[in-house]
Amino acid sequence: MNKKEILEKFSADPQRYYNVNLFEDQGFERRSCNTCNRFFWTLDSERVKCPDHSDDTYSFIGDPPTSKRFDYTQSWKEVESFFVKNNHTSINRYPVVCRWRDDLYFTIASIVDFQRVMGSKVVFEFPANPLVVPQTCLRFKDLENVGVTGRHFSSFCMIGQHSIPNENGYWKDECVNLDFNLLTQQFGIAKKEITFVEDVWEGGGSFGSSLEYFVRGLELGNAVFTEFQGDLSNYKTLDQRIIDMGAGLERFAWITMGTPTAYDCCFGPITQKLIQNAGIDSDSSVLIPYFTEIAKNLELYEDLSQVRKNAIKTTGLSDEQINHIITPLEGVYLIIDHIRTLIFAISDGALPSNVGGGYNLRIMLRRIVSTMNRLKLKFDLDEIIDIQIDYLKNTYPELENTREDVKEIISIETGRYDSSKQRMQKIVSKLDKEPRVEDLITLYESDGITPEYLKEMNVISEIPSTFYAKLSDLHQSKKQKDQVNLPLEGVPDTELLFYGEDPREFDAKVLKSFDSFVVLDKTAFYARGGGQEPDHGKIGDNDIIDITKHGNIVVHEIKGEIPKEGKTVSCIVDGKRRDGITKNHTSTHIINTSARSVLGSWVWQHSAFKEEDHARLDITHHSALTDDEVVKIEQAANSIIEKSIPVKIENFDRGTAEQKYGFRIYQGGVVPVKSVRIVSIGDLDIEACGGTHVTNTSDVKEIKIIKTKRIQDGVVRIEFVSGDSAKEFVKKKQQDSESKEKEEKLKKEEKEKRVERRQLAKERIPIIAKSLSDCKQGISTIENITIELSVSDKVNFCYSTSNDYDDIFHIGLGEVLCKADPKLVYCGLFEQGEKIRVIVYVGDEISKEKSAGEIVKSISQILGGAGGGSHKFAQGGGVDKSKKEDAIKNVKSMINE
Ligand SMILES: [Zn+2]
Ligand SMILES: [Zn+2]
Repeated sequence: MNKKEILEKFSADPQRYYNVNLFEDQGFERRSCNTCNRFFWTLDSERVKCPDHSDDTYSFIGDPPTSKRFDYTQSWKEVESFFVKNNHTSINRYPVVCRWRDDLYFTIASIVDFQRVMGSKVVFEFPANPLVVPQTCLRFKDLENVGVTGRHFSSFCMIGQHSIPNENGYWKDECVNLDFNLLTQQFGIAKKEITFVEDVWEGGGSFGSSLEYFVRGLELGNAVFTEFQGDLSNYKTLDQRIIDMGAGLERFAWITMGTPTAYDCCFGPITQKLIQNAGIDSDSSVLIPYFTEIAKNLELYEDLSQVRKNAIKTTGLSDEQINHIITPLEGVYLIIDHIRTLIFAISDGALPSNVGGGYNLRIMLRRIVSTMNRLKLKFDLDEIIDIQIDYLKNTYPELENTREDVKEIISIETGRYDSSKQRMQKIVSKLDKEPRVEDLITLYESDGITPEYLKEMNVISEIPSTFYAKLSDLHQSKKQKDQVNLPLEGVPDTELLFYGEDPREFDAKVLKSFDSFVVLDKTAFYARGGGQEPDHGKIGDNDIIDITKHGNIVVHEIKGEIPKEGKTVSCIVDGKRRDGITKNHTSTHIINTSARSVLGSWVWQHSAFKEEDHARLDITHHSALTDDEVVKIEQAANSIIEKSIPVKIENFDRGTAEQKYGFRIYQGGVVPVKSVRIVSIGDLDIEACGGTHVTNTSDVKEIKIIKTKRIQDGVVRIEFVSGDSAKEFVKKKQQDSESKEKEEKLKKEEKEKRVERRQLAKERIPIIAKSLSDCKQGISTIENITIELSVSDKVNFCYSTSNDYDDIFHIGLGEVLCKADPKLVYCGLFEQGEKIRVIVYVGDEISKEKSAGEIVKSISQILGGAGGGSHKFAQGGGVDKSKKEDAIKNVKSMINE
């Protein structure tokens, strides 16, 4: 079933699918385009072509068809007041970071706000009916068009008009009626100007008719009536029919203003300011024909550069006009658009990075910087952010709260880009041919080099039109998790005792058992989920290995023989383990909120892991944590513990919880059930969470951060312990640091002693040396140093075995004496701790025959150790202190040989 087939079928029966009361009442005629055969409805009897093929396409540029002029802010106020007047609830926009859907990073349409995925089904949850919402949507597929085409944005406001046809809502007739009145009454557009084109919509197993409405070739909105499911030969009406009318607010503003581009009327005062700042002469007599041509040509050519070339040719612009007006204007538009998108995304907690949705944000920031460099535009990004937020907060007051955070993130990210320039230059200088699209993707993916940078460096002249679409495909949707299929059909949901009385011992009936798996009618064993590790314990006599949840059924994996189905088994939960895990789980919430308060609003839980004796929390943050930040986070966490704040758990309807607490509740990811369990620590931290928690923060006792690490771009891991584990950790750390302190003290003392001894040796050696050299014959002993002159004909021997002297002394004295007497052999033996050491010097003359090294080797052996050295100096030692005299005798005999 494809769209074309559905359209053919529906258009064959317009009475049933497209004709609405309005068409009857106003006398709309149904026509078929004489170029493309598309069916459309019009009040203009001369109109024979659909909006895509009409002559008046884009003729509103320079000549708006409305009696009123509204900019972006005012346009929303008009739309809002119209729908509110017509019994709609106006709700605030949802975040642009789509936390409630697993398959989307960013909110791409207003209807996404209300879609919740449950299993493989998408359900709709409306906080009001009917409603209207100014939903900021992010789309990155057409990035290369932004700034160039006059109407493409990386983010835009989708006016969402949504209704469920029940006692409060309405269906097709009322919807089209409202949209028509909005255009004619509120915006003052002549009835004849409005064309409705027949179309269809199909997706996620359902489909329906739609009516797109156009004014002068510009599609302003599309009312989709999601009505059927099944296939074309056999379909039935959905239980929950939905009106999904999405209209582009930027286009509403544009059609009333008739400016050359939509950019000129949608960003507020910043556009004129930057145009002036850049010195661009934005003469509308040049711009109006040029951008009208661009708009018309966009439908004709696939390739944007072709569109541009053609428009230049048709309007006869000179190179001078291109280079000094069009090109810099495109740059200004791009910069403003991209910054606006970054303002929304960062405010809603996304960070530029090289993973996930962060990719798109980083690429936009790099496009901004490259564009400024290429065009030599010197803009102050902080100022642009300020002026934009000042303007945007008329519609989105919440952006005021994150003004400084947006500036901080953009400044960090810009700095990072600047510092990677040198590396990028090197890579680019090695490119030997013009890169293809695949090469461009690789260059960006592996080196962060954007095509804008290559353009800036004159490596490429145009960015291939498929680049951003391809990149976006790679990064738009998140990977779906694999689900293991177990034979659980017909098994009822497990009663979860841990959400109630949470007993440590209980009896339960075996509903199903197979392989090593057991399903009970009720369980107090917590199943692995939300980063919380499963409980341990026993089912009967069997140890539990793992516990997983499949839908609402808890499956226990056990060791040994599985119990028979129908049997009642007694179960015991390992309470100590559970308590440890529970403390760690509450601690992750405490650390999360502490980290946000210390670091900034962009901190979200990225993922978490809670075991019995340790845990970790990965948060979104742009840089590695400093020691100071870690200390502050730990202090903030422990002060929450000290304040003894009750941890409250309540169940809410999901929609109510979202409206009451906002999307901050989705720290742990998507909640796939209608009723959410809200865990709140006062008003400090409120999260949707299915885990086990202590009842008061004081139960956690203490939190200790043991390690932090930047684990990927934009994500920091905080490893910590809590409760008794934290106490033990602190105690051990204290012991470690005490013994380390002791060791260091000893080392220091030893060092001081050596300095002292060196000083002493320096003073005493000359005196003792003098006394020894004054001895003229025989054997003399001075201060425990013995000198034996003429041991043999040629050799004098000086030695000491006194422990009064140390290595410093012996080395000093030996050297002095041997220098004075080339016939001398000097030997110092002394005890040092458990060991005995020896130092030998040999005078010049003797060293020709007797080696100090040989002597030390021999003595060391006697002493039960080893040693060695050169001919003139050697040292060694051993452990046998009783062999001192033997050692001296040995030296004597060696030198006598
Ligand atoms: Zn047509
Ligand atoms: Zn949690």
